[in-house]
Amino acid sequence: KQLSVAIDGPAGAGKSTVARQVAKQLGLTYVDTGAMYRAITWKALTNGVDLTHEDAITQMAKNTDLRLSMDVKGSDVWVDGTTVSEEIRSPEVTSNVSTIAGQSKVREVLVDKQREMGRRGGVVMDGRDIGTHVLPDAEVKIFLTASIEERARRRYQEMVRRGFKVDLEQLKKEIGLRDEKDKNREHSPLRPAEDAIHLDTTGLSINDVIGRILQYCRT
Ligand code: C5P
Repeated sequence: KQLSVAIDGPAGAGKSTVARQVAKQLGLTYVDTGAMYRAITWKALTNGVDLTHEDAITQMAKNTDLRLSMDVKGSDVWVDGTTVSEEIRSPEVTSNVSTIAGQSKVREVLVDKQREMGRRGGVVMDGRDIGTHVLPDAEVKIFLTASIEERARRRYQEMVRRGFKVDLEQLKKEIGLRDEKDKNREHSPLRPAEDAIHLDTTGLSINDVIGRILQYCRT
């Protein structure tokens, strides 16, 4: 079996940037599990499905052809044959995603897909519950954090780059709120696995963080 790397942590800690580069350097596949929760949220919002209706969302998730594909620019997300990579990053999706992420039956559907993608190893998977629940046997587990100020600043830059109009203070509040919901939910809450390596990226460059993780992967 090939190496599996689990990267968990709160919003804006730099998980996806770092995970993508680590995967590239090691020749592994990057799996962005947050994109899967976002894709289902996007589909529900687009089709007017009530986000609080767990059974309806679960059924919808089961009937969705959800695909992730990687390229150098980032991850592309496909829902039923249409690419929604930009749409799933919208403020509307972001502020609604915790609702469906809190539903155990919806999580089961997505976790099954994630485990299937990680079955043979050879993956770098990022999310909230990868080390604790999705891939508990991953050889390398990283819990990535950064101060709320730094995380808000990074998210701000990302949103501006994507062409969304956002306010830094507002973003900080939203990130804090989303973290609280992710940490306090009943099913697979955000928390480090017992055997995770904690890495606080505040003040570190992306390359420093990637370099450290690569070291853990090689030893
Ligand atoms: O990583 P990203 O910020 O795109 O994730 C969006 C949301 O999806 C998170 O705030 C969380 O509610 C949910 N999520 C989750 N479990 C994962 C990945 C994401 O609950 N493994």
